[in-house]
Amino acid sequence: MYFRVRSFDDYGKLSGRDIQDLLSGARIAIGEHKNDPLDFALWKAAKPGEPTWESPWSDGRPGWHIECSAMCAHHLGDQIDIHGGGADLIFPHHENEIAQSEAFFGHDFFARYWMHNGLVQLGGEKMSKSIGNIVRLKEIVDSGKAMAFRLQVLQSHYRMPLTWTAESLDAAQNGLDRMRAAASPLPVKSADDHDAELDALVVATNEAFHAAMRNDFDTPIAVAQLFELARTINRNRTNDQFNASVEDARLKLIELAEILGLDLSEPTTESLTDAAPFIDLLVELRAELRTAKQFALADSVRDRLADLGVTIEDTRQGTIWKSS
Ligand SMILES: [Zn+2]
Repeated sequence: MYFRVRSFDDYGKLSGRDIQDLLSGARIAIGEHKNDPLDFALWKAAKPGEPTWESPWSDGRPGWHIECSAMCAHHLGDQIDIHGGGADLIFPHHENEIAQSEAFFGHDFFARYWMHNGLVQLGGEKMSKSIGNIVRLKEIVDSGKAMAFRLQVLQSHYRMPLTWTAESLDAAQNGLDRMRAAASPLPVKSADDHDAELDALVVATNEAFHAAMRNDFDTPIAVAQLFELARTINRNRTNDQFNASVEDARLKLIELAEILGLDLSEPTTESLTDAAPFIDLLVELRAELRTAKQFALADSVRDRLADLGVTIEDTRQGTIWKSS
């Protein structure tokens, strides 16, 4: 049993395609019993070996498109707020869902908003099981870079293709490290020691972040705002105390990152591998300070590293450090 596409005036309204163009380019395959090539199956007759259900038309099974309309109607109602899916499903699948649901229920819309995500690409090609160019999420999670991956995804707009490479994941990890460094706490000097310029930046960042998110979830712009704020905070970390404005900026950074699901609280082991030569340098410097009996300064180096998740241990073989 087919849906007669010509009977639905609005056919093509989601993809912006013209039904006449589509019809002129399409052919009816041999063995199909359609009036028009674009007509699509609502119910398919039973084939040997397939699961089947009884129906007034024949024993058989639902067509692919009708499954989604039926599930939406059953669980969510005749009309829904947001329908998502990959960009490759706009035509014909989502176009067909609209035709069936609107024709059957008689409403003028099926979904208020359609959110179509771009496809994930590996190198220049679409990532697909059949080509075999896939990277499993589990591998990324197991490597401890789940949060970096989240940032990587957010750095491209959801409607755009996402090109995955190991290098871009590493770059996202570095970016995350910079944000986490900015988010780590320092003592605050005094509650009323403010810096007007920085206060203004915090307000502007907050506004720009939310404006970007309201604009069809423009997360690349939102993330850029977070980097800008993190850079400013990191510039102000040179003293071992924050003024109140830097502290406000730090709390704002954590708050906005949380909206995107980015947890800035824990430094990861991976995050520090790039920093290893610098940590070595600081550990050497601390040893020299101790030799010169500058113990207060040496302890301050140790404590600052601890704030960043690096612990120093003095052993008989020398000083070792590990990152938590
Ligand atoms: Zn569907």
